[in-house]
Amino acid sequence: MNFITPIENISGIGSAYQKRLKNLKIKTLGDLLYNFPRDYKDFSKISKIKNIRINEINSISGKIISIEEEKSPHKRMSLTKCLIEDDSASLEVIWFNQPYMTKSLKAGDEVMLSGKVNINRYSVQMVSPTFEKISLKETIHTGRIVPIYSETKGITSKWIRYVLRPILDKIKSKIPETLPEEIIKKYNLLTLPDAIEKIHFPDKTEGVVEAQRRFVFEQLFLISLLNMKKRDELKKEEAPAIPINLPVIKRFINSLPFTLTPAQKKCSWQAMKDMERNFPMNRLLQGDVGSGKTVVSAIAAINTVKAKRQVVLMAPTEILTKQHFKTFFNLLKNFNINIGLLTGKEDIYYSKKLRSDTIEISRKKLLEKTEKGEIDILIGTQALITQTKTKENKVKFNDLGLIIIDEQHRFGVKQRATLSPKKKIAHLLSMTATPIPRTLTLTIWGDLDLSIIDTLPKGRKKIKTEIITEEKKAYSLIEKEIKKGRQAFVICPRIESDEDESSLLKSVKDEHEKLSKIIFPKLRIEMLHGKMKPKEKDKIMKDFKNKKFDVLVSTSVVEVGIDVPNATVMMIEGADRFGLAQLHQFRGRVGRGKDQSYCFLLTESKSKTTIERMKAMVKYDSGFKLSEIDLRLRGPGDFMGKRQWGMPDFVMSSLNNLEIIREARNASEDVYPISNDRLKKRLEAFEEKLHLE
Ligand code: ADP
Ligand code: MG
Repeated sequence: MNFITPIENISGIGSAYQKRLKNLKIKTLGDLLYNFPRDYKDFSKISKIKNIRINEINSISGKIISIEEEKSPHKRMSLTKCLIEDDSASLEVIWFNQPYMTKSLKAGDEVMLSGKVNINRYSVQMVSPTFEKISLKETIHTGRIVPIYSETKGITSKWIRYVLRPILDKIKSKIPETLPEEIIKKYNLLTLPDAIEKIHFPDKTEGVVEAQRRFVFEQLFLISLLNMKKRDELKKEEAPAIPINLPVIKRFINSLPFTLTPAQKKCSWQAMKDMERNFPMNRLLQGDVGSGKTVVSAIAAINTVKAKRQVVLMAPTEILTKQHFKTFFNLLKNFNINIGLLTGKEDIYYSKKLRSDTIEISRKKLLEKTEKGEIDILIGTQALITQTKTKENKVKFNDLGLIIIDEQHRFGVKQRATLSPKKKIAHLLSMTATPIPRTLTLTIWGDLDLSIIDTLPKGRKKIKTEIITEEKKAYSLIEKEIKKGRQAFVICPRIESDEDESSLLKSVKDEHEKLSKIIFPKLRIEMLHGKMKPKEKDKIMKDFKNKKFDVLVSTSVVEVGIDVPNATVMMIEGADRFGLAQLHQFRGRVGRGKDQSYCFLLTESKSKTTIERMKAMVKYDSGFKLSEIDLRLRGPGDFMGKRQWGMPDFVMSSLNNLEIIREARNASEDVYPISNDRLKKRLEAFEEKLHLE
């Protein structure tokens, strides 16, 4: 038996169970061993019966005096009643609808039971406990820390423990180590056999922690190695070298209505320096909301176009692509550059032809022009540009030099290659406002080079942020601001209210009704949420930008990048529901114009963590600082899809442990370039698994 032994070949797992395991995506012995518990129950403290605690889970150990099944006549329900005794007292135990209990347990058996003890009018009872006969061997279901697994129909945690224990006993000594020995020693990690043993059957809580540390370390170590490998592989690819055209860049910078910040200059320079080389740039431009990333990308773009190569700019939503089109159009209008905007549903396409205004042309024409190289910069959503199915709608470039991506991190080499027809891979500049702490970025996105815009342009007014428990104050300020001609956002955590417990949360629909009927009957109020059609959403956003109404009530869909300089109030209902990075993004929607802006955080929560988080919003206006705080207080859930690397939850939640991230990264540097064959194979398998997911 080894890790790739199919479960069919494991004795003790019948065909019905094989099917059910496959539903849990467990196909091999390795899958079974790596199916880690999602939780643990601590049954390790055995109580004397006379000391049991009511309304709590207790573990007891004793002898069965009697056990029998009772049928209740009116309800079709069976009841198993049992009396158990230890050297201190006896206790009644009941199970519902488990008629086989009387077959499993007999009077005289020595058993261990773990379960909740209830008290009612007649007696004290232990209800439906987990049970286990005591033999000489150690227990696995009771009287210890017991693993709880994700269950599916027909597969219980108890069953998994039951099959796993003998398998582990049999193969534990043969489990091959997957990490290099020197790394295990240097970083003081559990060996793989020990880690697998302790993650399933820990002797004490610390055992779980040690085992998890080993697996987290390994996962981060492999991710880091993979990124180093990707980085080296990309260096072997060829890219069009793009010379830096200083006269044009200078003319462009002089044409701007503002002076670039030193950080913007540094980042533009880093990008252009990368693109001078004949292998592909792979750069992440990280900068807070409003830090001015667009103009940096425009500099890279104009330099590319003047070297007679094309540029594509992709953003996640159509609203954003339109905004980018407008910005690029304004910035580059005196530079003889053709910009195309490819839009989705409505089949309308614009092109800026030299100095004239925008004109509409058909999609067909736009694609033809792109293929001929007459469009210098094409802007569209990533979906539209890379995933168009039909042949005649496929975007083809004549000679692509630069790919700019806004707010999307992953764009693989293969995707890049399909856009670049001439066997050269286009340069990539990826932009994000997601403020991830640097240590994390270096590991998780370690294949990318980092450019950070760490200062906001001068003269920005700090947004006044306030925590409030009632709306009144915010409403009166909204009214005042709107009288001055400004606009306001109101964010709610939900679209509509429903019956479940979370109905306490403010919903967009209710809030919209309340505001337009009761609070501000004279104002113009609209709403926006994810269930609306893209066309509707676009129209609402456009109308808001064009000041056609005063207050926008929205869900978090408004989060990404939308620019409404006239809006000065951001009010966030249920603010504790959101991560700090996200709140910071919301807040970044205002304060984009010259007027003083305000942000109200509404929360009724009294939790210490919540208050600490909200206070951080008031104190700090740096996204990096806030994300660090959030990472510490809440873990990383906010800025990363949980399933991004098929990581178990505990790996995700340990990403707030910067120490282990640093160690894993150091370890990957210790062994790179990899000479150990076993590690090479392990990394290949890891990569393959990532691609499958
Ligand atoms: P983000 O980094 O969020 O994408 P943008 O590129 O949209 O930010 O820039 C936000 C605003 O700041 C824009 O209106 C832009 O014109 C302006 N801006 C950019 N750079 C500067 C600067 N150096 N000085 C003043 N304003 C700037
Ligand atoms: Mg932007």
